[in-house]
Formats: sequence, C-alpha cells, structure tokens
Amino acid sequence: MRKEMSQQQNLDEQLYHQPWAAANDDSVQRSIDPTQQAHATDMYGRVEQFLASQEGHNLTDYLQRHGKNPIALRGVGAGYLPDHAVAAVIHNGLEGVLVGNYNGRSFEERVQEMADRYHLDPQSMVEYVLSHELAHAAGYDAEADVEGLLKDYFAQQMQHAEGPERQRYQQLHEISGQREQQQRTDRGNHQEKPLAIVIPFQKGQYQSANEPRAYAA
Ligand SMILES: [Zn+2]
Repeated sequence: MRKEMSQQQNLDEQLYHQPWAAANDDSVQRSIDPTQQAHATDMYGRVEQFLASQEGHNLTDYLQRHGKNPIALRGVGAGYLPDHAVAAVIHNGLEGVLVGNYNGRSFEERVQEMADRYHLDPQSMVEYVLSHELAHAAGYDAEADVEGLLKDYFAQQMQHAEGPERQRYQQLHEISGQREQQQRTDRGNHQEKPLAIVIPFQKGQYQSANEPRAYAA
C-alpha cells in the first residue's frame, strides 16, 4: 500500500512525507518515533472507547443505514497533519486509517480548543470529532455532507433523549448545522478551515466494508 500511495499524484505534500503510525497492519508504516507511538496509542484508546460506548453503537448503526461507500477502517493512529486538522481519515476508497493530529500540539489540546470555541464539554467534542471522522469512513467525502449527516443524526438522538442528554444533543446538532452552513457558503475560499482532511490515496472499485474496526497500535 505504500507503493500505491507513492503513485497517487495529488497528495498533499505535507501528508505524503509524514511518518505516520498506526495499527498492527502491514499496510501501515510504523513510526520509529516513540512520541508518535504514544500519541497513536492514545488515539487508538479513544476510538476504541468510543466504538464500545452506547454513543458509538448508535452512530455506527446510523452510518450503516446511511453510509454511501464505506471503507474498512484498518487502523487508528497519530499523524503529522497540517495545523488546521484535528484528525483525518486517510484511505484509498476501500480501506484506511483514522489518525489524530499530533503536529506541534496533541489531539487532546486541539479538541480542548474546539470545545472552548463551541462552549461544549471536551468529552462531547471528542464524540463530535470521532463521529465526523467515522462519517468520512462511511463514504462521505465533502465536509458539508459530513456536517449535514451529523446534523440529522444528532437531531435524531435528541428526539430519543431527555434532560441534559437532550440538551447535549441539541448543542451537537446546532454545531453541525452551523458548520454545514459555513462549509456550503465558504466553499472555495479557505476562511473556514475544515475539521479534517481526507486523502484518498487510491481510487479503486467499491467493496462493502464491515463495521468500522480499530486495531491495536
Ligand atoms: Zn472532515
């Protein structure tokens, strides 16, 4: 897969040259940098925890019903991503990895910044970011489409919740609605940075994927 990656012409140079770590998977290059390994392990733990939670189950159920061309998630790790990215799904249209950005600041710090900006608790912000990335893995490439999907998903969750949980989902619903609007109106200019980037490194035939799975870093 490294070979296939090198054949892709329009990769972002910043991503292309990064050593990125993830997974017990031959397709993913391992990092020799212990700091990156630590970040990859941390990210793996977060994704594993989320996928095992009720919120994670609800989301993956929803994505299985609404997914378009889901990829198989083959790993979770840490990437040296451009500064505006919090996380990314790097994939070839069939399979890929979910990486948090550890470039200069940790994923945790970036999530905290976002949480402050949106007046949300950090744990809900993690849920938001991972939901966003898993929506990419479910086949949604465009940022506005991801946010639109999340807006509808959080609205549905809101309807089934009560009290503080209902308020929390209302907040998440409003954030994705706001971000969707920004993505649709700002398309083409770079004032509003995308939450993350998706790099398809090989366009291939579609193969239906299993439920997103994470592999130990
Ligand atoms: Zn995104």
